[in-house]
Amino acid sequence: MSNFSSSAILIRRIDHGDFDLILTFLTLERGKVSCIAKYAKKSVKRFSGVLELFYDLDIVCTRGKGKLPFLKEASVRHPHMGIRCNILKTAYAGYWAQLVDQWMEEGQKDAGMFGIFQKALSFLDQDILSPEVASIFFQMKFLIISGIYPDFVQCNQCGLSFDKIKGDKLSFDLGKGGLTCKTCTVKTGQSITLSRGAVKQLIWITEKPAEKIFRIRFSAQVKQESLSFLETFIPFHLGIRPKSLAFLQQIREKRPLETNICIENK
Ligand SMILES: [Zn+2]
Repeated sequence: MSNFSSSAILIRRIDHGDFDLILTFLTLERGKVSCIAKYAKKSVKRFSGVLELFYDLDIVCTRGKGKLPFLKEASVRHPHMGIRCNILKTAYAGYWAQLVDQWMEEGQKDAGMFGIFQKALSFLDQDILSPEVASIFFQMKFLIISGIYPDFVQCNQCGLSFDKIKGDKLSFDLGKGGLTCKTCTVKTGQSITLSRGAVKQLIWITEKPAEKIFRIRFSAQVKQESLSFLETFIPFHLGIRPKSLAFLQQIREKRPLETNICIENK
């Protein structure tokens, strides 16, 4: 039996029989890790109620003979109550968590993904960015880290540079993963229209260090265009339509007046 410990964020939690939970963490040391928390359902005392989604934890696991390691200890570094008490923020964090879960293989170490996910959760939790801008930030960084970054530099087909592509409305080919100029645009039903302003903002957000992101200002239209683009492009490339995204879009559409679901926020 060997132990390992790591900083970890809980991204998935499912029941396993009457007593146990199967948990999936994004960890700093070992990437995506799934493990069994024995008796976590039966006894709240066993893990002191810390096994909640998006909690930033320190965990210790024991690897036995079985397929999955066992969770031995878990202590809270940050509970992100600002997210858990707000249904819209919870919906955003749930969507990001599902992207991470779908993209990463078990045991695939990726400190960059951990850092960006942790940063985006803290932006969301502490209202450093609005949920919409935090989501644009997370998704753009996710695309860079996962190597499916959209080509905004030039026409993906003929190489005509971004500045020389005419018009304010630009066509983005989902399958080819890049902008296409008017001559090269083929109506395939797989393209999205993006304004020049939205493309510039998306480039800006990827180039700036996270510490300077709070300076960005999105107009309502650019924000909406950017979200719509990213929430189409990423699922297209992952080949999945996350359930969490359908939930997020439903919540966002309804825009409930009262999104706080805890008596005490934070
Ligand atoms: Zn072209």
